[in-house]
Amino acid sequence: MTIYNFGSINLDHLYQLDHFVRPGETMASNSYQCLLGGKGANQSVALAKAGARVKHVGAIHHNDHGIIKQLAALGVDTDLIKQIDVPTGHAIIQLNKEAENSIILYQGANHALTEEQVDQVLSQAMAGDWVLLQNETNLIEYTMRKAQEYGVKVAFNPAPMDAELTKRVLGFVDLLIVNEVEAMDLIGTSDIDSAIAAFPKAYPELAVLITLGKAGVCYFTGKKSTEKKSTGKKSTGEEKLFVKAFSVKAVDTTAAGDTFIGFCLASLMNGDDITQSITRACAASAICVTRLGAASSIPTQDEVTAFLAKKS
Ligand code: ADP
Repeated sequence: MTIYNFGSINLDHLYQLDHFVRPGETMASNSYQCLLGGKGANQSVALAKAGARVKHVGAIHHNDHGIIKQLAALGVDTDLIKQIDVPTGHAIIQLNKEAENSIILYQGANHALTEEQVDQVLSQAMAGDWVLLQNETNLIEYTMRKAQEYGVKVAFNPAPMDAELTKRVLGFVDLLIVNEVEAMDLIGTSDIDSAIAAFPKAYPELAVLITLGKAGVCYFTGKKSTEKKSTGKKSTGEEKLFVKAFSVKAVDTTAAGDTFIGFCLASLMNGDDITQSITRACAASAICVTRLGAASSIPTQDEVTAFLAKKS
């Protein structure tokens, strides 16, 4: 079983600062790192580290072939990454003392995907394979429609959130994964409890994972849930599960969601049930937030197994 991740690849320029730069302010930074990032690449790395067979689909500038080496060394299949004459996507990340981040994103080559490339990739896919998408690449709707045509399941993490696009494509989605802010945006409220209460009524068909930061994760089975199909369980669309996050000292929450998604999907593809998958993903993302960086802070399978053994 393969997961095709149509995802962004960014170079993350990371600055640690006392506070975010204010309007009109110029601030010197003593700390600078250039790291591999982008939600897509992070999720591919998390999937690979979690043991899934992941093919990353995307593009970078042809001068940045070091990225290919780095992804391949982490276990990601890079054959479907094009090297083109468009700047690699990048992010300028400010990280403050409270471990919050503030990010400028330049999409670059992440928006250079063509319909021809999508068709070519999906024609290789087999029934039971998955397509994963975030909202940092182009042709989201086209890719989902094609995935459905080829009988491939679709997981969607609509980040950064575009509520209009997301609502339009939900019919193609088998598993939606959103964080608190994205969940509130989709429901149109600024209160997370109201968003959680409203979700299964607004989207009864949909299997949804809502990650709630240090609080944990909420899951709605939805009427077309993958798990339900395999267990034969009947759903009212109201079935709900809550898994608490692990208590750790967070230093940088960058890539927490990406780590969660990679480990959760890898577990599900491995045949684990949804509770086991969420728990394992919570452990992986708890480790991730104790470390600085994006892709580099994603733990290995062994680290997650050891963490869970210590907590039980
Ligand atoms: P995103 O990074 O997309 O905003 P979240 O902040 O919801 O996503 O984090 C994803 C998951 O990472 C959470 O569901 C939780 O399991 C874990 N996590 C995030 N922050 C913490 C934290 N401070 N302590 C422990 N686990 C955390």
